[in-house]
Amino acid sequence: NGSPNTEGVSGDGLENKSTDEAPISPAERSLLQKIIRRGLVENKNDIEVQRKDPSSPLFSVKSFEALNLHPQLLKGVYAMGFNAPSKIQETALPTLLADRPQNMIAQSQSGTGKTAAFVLAMLSRVDPKKEYPQVLCLSPTYELAIQTGEVAAKMAQFCTEIKIRFAVRGEEIPRGTKLKEHIIIGTPGKVVDWGVKYRFFDLGKISVFVLDEADVMIATQGHQDQSFRIHKLLSPNCQMMFFSATYEQDVMEFAEGIVSNPVVIRLKREEESLHNIKQYYVMCRNLEDKYTAIANIYGVVTIGQAMIFCHTRKTASWLTEKMSHDGHAVALLSGDLTVEQRIAVLDRFRDGKEKVLITTNVLARGIDVEQVTIVVNFDLPVDLRRNADCDTYLHRIGRTGRFGKAGIAINLVDGPETMALLKQIEDHFGKKINQLDAEDVDEIE
Ligand code: ADP
Repeated sequence: NGSPNTEGVSGDGLENKSTDEAPISPAERSLLQKIIRRGLVENKNDIEVQRKDPSSPLFSVKSFEALNLHPQLLKGVYAMGFNAPSKIQETALPTLLADRPQNMIAQSQSGTGKTAAFVLAMLSRVDPKKEYPQVLCLSPTYELAIQTGEVAAKMAQFCTEIKIRFAVRGEEIPRGTKLKEHIIIGTPGKVVDWGVKYRFFDLGKISVFVLDEADVMIATQGHQDQSFRIHKLLSPNCQMMFFSATYEQDVMEFAEGIVSNPVVIRLKREEESLHNIKQYYVMCRNLEDKYTAIANIYGVVTIGQAMIFCHTRKTASWLTEKMSHDGHAVALLSGDLTVEQRIAVLDRFRDGKEKVLITTNVLARGIDVEQVTIVVNFDLPVDLRRNADCDTYLHRIGRTGRFGKAGIAINLVDGPETMALLKQIEDHFGKKINQLDAEDVDEIE
C-alpha cells in the first residue's frame, strides 16, 4: 500500500490550493451535530432577555417540577435523563408554558436544549381529547423533522394518547382526508400542501406554531415564502415560537415577520480558546514520516478519541486505508458519503467503536465532538491564498469552558512552507507550539 497519487497530497503544495470537498449544507451540518452530540453544551454566558412589555415579569425555573407539567410528561422528561433545565430552558420554559401564551424568539447555539424546550411546550399544550392538529412544527429538512419527532416521541412515551404525524416527503394521504393527530412536524413544502392546498387540517385551529432552525430554513430557497404562506392562515391567538442557532440580521428579520410581540432570549456562544490545549508539532520529512507519526499517535490514544484532519478527500481515504490495512480501527468521514453513511459513521464514533476519526474540512467547522482529546492536523488548514486559516485551526482545536479536561493538538509539519504556516498560527494566537519527537509521541501523555 504505497503513496497515493501525489496530487493534492504531498510535496510542493501547489495542488493543495483548495480542498476538493464541497462544503456541507447548513441543514446537514445541523443534523450531523445532533447525531454526534451526547448531551448538553454547557455555556457560562448569561441569558440576554429583551421584551416589549417589561411589566410582565419574566421568571426562570431551576427545576422541571416548578413548571407544573402533566405528571406523565414530567415522567417522560426524567426518563430522558434530564435532571434540571438547561440554561436556555430555565428562561424559555416558564414563558413558553405560561397560562397566557407568549410568543418567543430564542437563539442559542446547537446543543443547548432548544429542541427539548419547544418539544416540551408542544406536548404540554396538546389537548388529547380534541382529535385534530393543534401543534405545528416546521423543520428545514426531512431528517431534521424526524429528529424532532423522535425527541417528541421519547418525551411523550408515557402520554400514549398524544399522536404525532410527520408531514415530510414520502408521506402521502388521499384527498379529502382530515388529519386527527394532535401534532404535525414537517417541512415547509409538505405543510403548504397539507395545510394550505389540500386542507388536510385547519391551520386556523393550530394553537402552537414552532419554527425550528430558522437560520437553516432561510438558507433554503423557498422556505421563507412557504413559512409565510403557512403563517398567514394561523389564528392571531396562535402561540409562535421561533428558534435559531445564530442571530444574524436576516434571521431576525424573518423572525419579526413571523412572531409578533415576542419575548426574545439569547444565549451567546461561548468563545472557543486554546486555553488548556497543549499544542505540538512533529517534523516530518515526507509522507511516510507523517504516516509513522500518525501510527505512533494511534498507539497512545488510550483514553478518549482522536480526530485527524486532512486537506483533501484523497489524503483522507489514503490514510484511512493504510491505517486499516495496518490493523488500526479508524473511521472515515468525507464528502463522498451519503447522508445515511455519514450518520452511521458518526454514530459509531460517538459510541466509541473507533478511536480515530479521519476527516476533511467537512467536519472542521461548527461541529463539536466533545469526546475527542487529541486533534491531529495531518495538513494544516489554509485559506484560498494559502495563508494559515487560523479560524479553522481554532475550530478544530479550540475548546470552550465546557471541557474540563485538557486537549492535545498535534500538527504535522513536512517542510518550510508548512513551518511558515505554523509560525503564522503561533503568532496569531500568541501561543508557542512545541516540537515533539516523532518517536516519542508517548511523552504527550
Ligand atoms: P438544541 O436544540 O439547542 O440543539 P437539544 O434540545 O437537542 O439542543 O439538546 C442537546 C442535547 O442535550 C440532546 O442530547 C438532549 O437530549 C440533551 N438535553 C436537552 N435538555 C437537557 C436537560 N435539561 N438535561 C440534560 N440533557 C438535556
